[in-house]
Amino acid sequence: MNADELVEIAVEVDGEAAEAVAELFNRFNGGDWVEDSAAGEASGGGAVLESTGYDDFGNPLDGEFRLVVKTYLKPGPRGRTIQKQIEEGLWRLRLLYPMPEPVARPVREEDWAHAWKRHYKPLRIGKRVLLAPAWEEPNALPGDVVVRLEPGMAFGTGLHPTTRLCVAALEKWVRPGDSVLDIGTGSGVLSIVAAKLGAHPVWATDIDPLAIRVAGENAELNGVSLGFDQLYVRHGSVPEDQEGQFSLIVSNILAEVLIGLFDAAYGNVPLAAPLAPGGRMILSGILEEKAGTVVAAAVRHGLLEVERLQEGDWVAITVQSEREA
Ligand code: SAH
Repeated sequence: MNADELVEIAVEVDGEAAEAVAELFNRFNGGDWVEDSAAGEASGGGAVLESTGYDDFGNPLDGEFRLVVKTYLKPGPRGRTIQKQIEEGLWRLRLLYPMPEPVARPVREEDWAHAWKRHYKPLRIGKRVLLAPAWEEPNALPGDVVVRLEPGMAFGTGLHPTTRLCVAALEKWVRPGDSVLDIGTGSGVLSIVAAKLGAHPVWATDIDPLAIRVAGENAELNGVSLGFDQLYVRHGSVPEDQEGQFSLIVSNILAEVLIGLFDAAYGNVPLAAPLAPGGRMILSGILEEKAGTVVAAAVRHGLLEVERLQEGDWVAITVQSEREA
């Protein structure tokens, strides 16, 4: 292999496994890519997501939707060690998600540097929301809500079905002027979508400090201003000082965590406390078989199911407060 060749490791996956594979690539081969090959270290680049099978407006073409997660290694002993770690990690992930064996092939470095960004395509969700990579100005239709994200940094590229279900529910329920609370914001994707649909203020919280940083950066990238009037990003979980303040709460975490949040297992305030009378809550990250236990927790707190969206094994449930608005 020539010194200017890289090893590309590619795995074809569905949206759900893509986040897990991207996280693995970022963990073992993350950090900034060293563009200058003279600097020579065999690491960096993280994960690259490619999706194909879309038309120019981000609509999936029938039967052609395909997602490939790739990472690139520099040649040399360190590159080989990272490759081995990645292959072991992928072997473990294959126990959880069905996916084919990774494909490794040499590629020329210049090809990598210039070509890969072309493949990360805008993704349309619901009727008007278009999620696009940070560097691209997508082909939007009049009335589209365009949200641009830096991929691969915090959870929430829009590739995971649980995120897509929340975006579809937000599109349905958010009215201009609604106050929205997004608990577990990750990349900030749902808060930014809500703000762009006209919600204000929007509060985003996350227990992960990295998510708080990335959410702030993604907000800025989208021209969503940080501060009480538009988007307020806060480290933590259910805010303790906002009783009855939000007309809509969205939370895409796991069923077990949501149930814990309802019962104030991780703090002093139950999930329903910041909800205004008559307000709605979008709950996601729920495997179909666990939907019943989440709805039961919601009912214990005076909320009734009004809608359920499903994609594969995942459901997102919208519940509404029984109290008069
Ligand atoms: N909202 C994004 C990210 C969802 S991932 C999307 O829909 O794509 C779930 C996020 O919840 C992670 O960023 C994680 O750090 C955060 N999280 C996990 N437990 C939490 C808790 N108890 N309170 C607040 N955030 C939590």
